[in-house]
Amino acid sequence: MKSTVYFTDLSAGHKENLISKLGRLLETAGLNQIVAKREIVAVKLHFGELGNSAFIRPVFFRKIVDTIRKAGGAPFLTDANTVYAGTRSDSVNHLKTAFQNGFAYSVVDAPIVIADGLRGKSEVAVEINQNRFKEVYIGSEIINADSIVSVAHFKGHELSGFGGTLKNIGMGCASRKGKLAQHSTVSPKVVAKKCIGCEDCIPHCSQQAISVTDKKAFISPETCIGCGECILICPNSAIQIQWDQSVPVFLENMVEYTMGVLKGKADKALFVNFITDISPACDCYGHNDSPLVRDIGIVASTDPVAIDQASVDLVNKEKALPGSCLKENREAGEDKFQGLYPYVDWSIQLDYAEKIGLGTRNYELAPLPQKQKSKNKP
Ligand code: SF4
Ligand code: SF4
Repeated sequence: MKSTVYFTDLSAGHKENLISKLGRLLETAGLNQIVAKREIVAVKLHFGELGNSAFIRPVFFRKIVDTIRKAGGAPFLTDANTVYAGTRSDSVNHLKTAFQNGFAYSVVDAPIVIADGLRGKSEVAVEINQNRFKEVYIGSEIINADSIVSVAHFKGHELSGFGGTLKNIGMGCASRKGKLAQHSTVSPKVVAKKCIGCEDCIPHCSQQAISVTDKKAFISPETCIGCGECILICPNSAIQIQWDQSVPVFLENMVEYTMGVLKGKADKALFVNFITDISPACDCYGHNDSPLVRDIGIVASTDPVAIDQASVDLVNKEKALPGSCLKENREAGEDKFQGLYPYVDWSIQLDYAEKIGLGTRNYELAPLPQKQKSKNKP
């Protein structure tokens, strides 16, 4: 059976602007069936790393907030802290970055609650009993919310090929421990040439897994639990995640985490992808390169697999823009994400998500109907 993915292009005029179309898109895709009166609704987004400008504009979130309130819900904006050192690795800096990127209360009209607490340790272990994980670690405020509206910026990603709904949910809602579990089965490593032997990391390791010999730190993989605390502490960024897992394993991990986030919320989740500013890499970088293809539109669905399949198909139908970094697969119909990251088979995330019952790759694209004329107007 096909899932419906609702689509609006970016055309607008004096009769209806894009912000108004976004509100109708959410309602058409079923927001009113997902949100019940007085429910607390987590709006999961990415506030953008400081210096990045490809993230979704805050003004769109005000409309999403308004539309959720109209349905009776109480929305809050949320994301979980990052596992790497950056401008969003703890709640203090995460909130500061969000405000600096324009997500002030006066703009979005909703509070921001960072999902996994001050330092990424506020988490809930969710039992999923899947092939790769028996339980997954999710930011507690995502779990505590009654329903979730995921709003993802669809773009390229160096580990998953593209980043859409599955990544926004699976990676984006995980606590620090959960993110590390997805990225690596083993402990972080010390990059010796960056380590100055200052020993700042030692007292921050709850497991006494770090030692310093001859001015170089060493992490014992037997003792380390992969909490990631030391990554943020090191002043020289000498402690780093091991990006050594094969991409298929990473993608399956991410999809199993998506399952954990959505457990118990099967009928309480709506997914939205903005297929705009389609940059080649994640919004976690403090920059964004020229877009791959033109701005395409916004899609919404209750199926997290169908929406990503529809989004990747829409991008791949387009011809690459002049000035994009894409060297291969530039023509309409060619796979832009394979051209960017030839070592990543992005279809694995969709296949695996379908296999474990998160949704279907089989979809129909339903254009947003024209706005009905008001009966009170001539
Ligand atoms: S904090 Fe960083 S630089 Fe200092 S000893 Fe630890 S790893 Fe080396
Ligand atoms: S990841 Fe956690 S347990 Fe492992 S060395 Fe760093 S602080 Fe210690």
